[in-house]
Amino acid sequence: MELKKLNEHIWYMPFEEERDRPNLGYIKGDKMSLAIDAGHSEAHLREFYDLLQKAGLPLPSLTVITHWHWDHTFAMHAVNGLTIANKTTNGHLLEFMKKIETSGPDSFLNMNDSVRKEYEGGKEVIIVPADIVFEGDMTIDLGGCTVKIMQTKAPHTDDSTLVYVCEDKTLFLGDATCAQFPNGGRDKDLANELADKIRTIDPKICVEGHWQPVETEDTLADLLA
Ligand SMILES: [Zn+2]
Repeated sequence: MELKKLNEHIWYMPFEEERDRPNLGYIKGDKMSLAIDAGHSEAHLREFYDLLQKAGLPLPSLTVITHWHWDHTFAMHAVNGLTIANKTTNGHLLEFMKKIETSGPDSFLNMNDSVRKEYEGGKEVIIVPADIVFEGDMTIDLGGCTVKIMQTKAPHTDDSTLVYVCEDKTLFLGDATCAQFPNGGRDKDLANELADKIRTIDPKICVEGHWQPVETEDTLADLLA
């Protein structure tokens, strides 16, 4: 896997289908850098950090979580610096954490082949809540680069966070545009609401969790299909 440069402030490690690994985003300002999503496991995160170090980029001081799903969050315990999640995401993480504490990791480990592959060799499942919990919107100045973090309604889950890099007109969506997991439906009203939100933000590039970066029109067409 290689690190890709998207525009002036943004790099990402591309998604992988086999282990259901999402894109991990990286935004570099003059003062600090921020990552988008922690990854599926510590191994996933380590690969990302190795690529950043090879490219001479500082490890992120902050990691923003787009939604609670395991493939985006189960490496949170191993991140450099602090993690940020909205209150609903944090609630889901705490709930999952309790479930694993009480019943063990087997039902998670046997959920599907991607999880089995990611955790093969008896890797430990570790879930932790976020260091910083927010509600609504938040703006972070990374130094010459402004990042807006916005809680939003979306068809995929009830806890989506969007991350917009203003100077680069790039919007990270996590899986917000996807159908609900695992039942596959995409609520029309929620899809329309999210589409309106995207149009208001007016990005040039959209980065979805498990797809290559595309122009906003592509993302909207897909969301409303
Ligand atoms: Zn998801």
